[in-house]
Amino acid sequence: MSWGVLLKEAIKSFVKKPVTIPYPIKETSVPDGYRGLLSFDITKCIGCGLCSQVCPTGTIRMIPDERTKTKRRPLFELAKCVFCGSCVEVCPRKAISLTKNYHTAVIRKDEITI
Ligand code: SF4
Ligand code: SF4
Repeated sequence: MSWGVLLKEAIKSFVKKPVTIPYPIKETSVPDGYRGLLSFDITKCIGCGLCSQVCPTGTIRMIPDERTKTKRRPLFELAKCVFCGSCVEVCPRKAISLTKNYHTAVIRKDEITI
């Protein structure tokens, strides 16, 4: 490659818009159906435990909770989640959903525990 071509490419790259997004300074949009962080509505949960049984990564474990009829609820340690959606599909009360939230980077794992 000649110096002329290299210089031309360098100038082109310098003036054209970057293809990368300066995250986290700027937000981006994600498509419908994107599998981001889980959302959990404890008011719908009946503590059946099906979500913890199907989760392939051990993200969900059942813990005692007086607010539910069966006195237990799932705890989601989302640092382990692979966003497969199995828990969403199996939940009989539609208490779990996948959101478009892609902010999954945290300092401490417990920051994304719900
Ligand atoms: S989306 Fe998949 S990996 Fe994540 S908590 Fe649900 S079942 Fe587990
Ligand atoms: S499957 Fe749904 S209703 Fe059952 S424990 Fe999990 S979140 Fe609650």
